[in-house]
Amino acid sequence: DQLISQIAAGEVVERPSAVVKELLENALDAGATQITIRLEEGGVKRIAISDNGRGIAPEQLPLALARHATSKIASLTDLENVATLGFRGEALASIASVAAVSITTRTADAAHAWQIVGSHQGTVAPSSGPCGTTIDVQDLYFNTPARRKFLKSEQTEYGHCAEVVRRIALARPDVSFSLTHNGRTIDHWNVCEMARRSSQILGNDFAEARLPIDESAGPLRLHGYAGLPTASKARADGQFFYVNGRYVRDKLLVHAVRAAYQDVLHGDRFPSYVLALDLDPALVDVNVHPSKIEVRFRDSRAVHQFVFHAVQRSLAATSA
Ligand code: ADP
Ligand code: MG
Repeated sequence: DQLISQIAAGEVVERPSAVVKELLENALDAGATQITIRLEEGGVKRIAISDNGRGIAPEQLPLALARHATSKIASLTDLENVATLGFRGEALASIASVAAVSITTRTADAAHAWQIVGSHQGTVAPSSGPCGTTIDVQDLYFNTPARRKFLKSEQTEYGHCAEVVRRIALARPDVSFSLTHNGRTIDHWNVCEMARRSSQILGNDFAEARLPIDESAGPLRLHGYAGLPTASKARADGQFFYVNGRYVRDKLLVHAVRAAYQDVLHGDRFPSYVLALDLDPALVDVNVHPSKIEVRFRDSRAVHQFVFHAVQRSLAATSA
């Protein structure tokens, strides 16, 4: 059972940044508007994420760490309409099988916080702290040396963690994020508008040369900003696409955007963009891989055409 957990954990938490992603998604699912991420040694030594979300009731705490326990799906039909980011109920259990985990949490109606340490078999004890949840993950892979060997340098692992935070923060300007590494504050983004959050994250070049996009057709809506190629540097890491709020790196979508840029601007450089596609959750399958970075559309041709034309029209409108 422990072995099965550790194998499953390898899928879900292949490196520190995967832990950061799962914990951030949980915080957002809990309705947090303020999230603090503290990392030590690239996340390998410690990943502690605090949120001001709704918290976990003490009787639910062991369940949060149990495999396949999720509070987010009530029935099988819900699987078809996944609106929350997490829905498998295996992330925390997996993380707890390969690291030392503690959860400290307090709901709005509780007189004080509660804490559980270790696994779902750990005892739930009174604790102190504000409303919301802190999940503290220490010594990742301490009990699975084979996996630990695959970790890269502290700086590389930190870079992956920071990228995950950027992706999520970019989609959620309505939430404040603060990121520290080895005790130093690296990023702090207050609640703001999308225009501001995207220039904070993508830089002033992007802020000065970008087109707002907001187009709808039937069940599809594409909104965000398409950056224009500027005289200054084009960043290879400045392309962000979201489907129903979830960051994805999907060949079909990347191709549609790239084709639109080429059609209008004929350049070979690929500018930054932040685009969000929203559609009926029943028209898209996000349950294809534990890392959930790729998606499958019911009608991929229609999605491709819609994204292509939406980007093409906005680019053409200003370059005309
Ligand atoms: P999933 O997100 O797929 O439901 P997880 O293993 O990530 O599974 O989390 C298990 C459960 O723990 C969640 O369904 C939720 O009820 C609870 N939980 C986890 N993190 C938080 C959090 N930050 N705030 C409130 N509840 C949480
Ligand atoms: Mg989750």
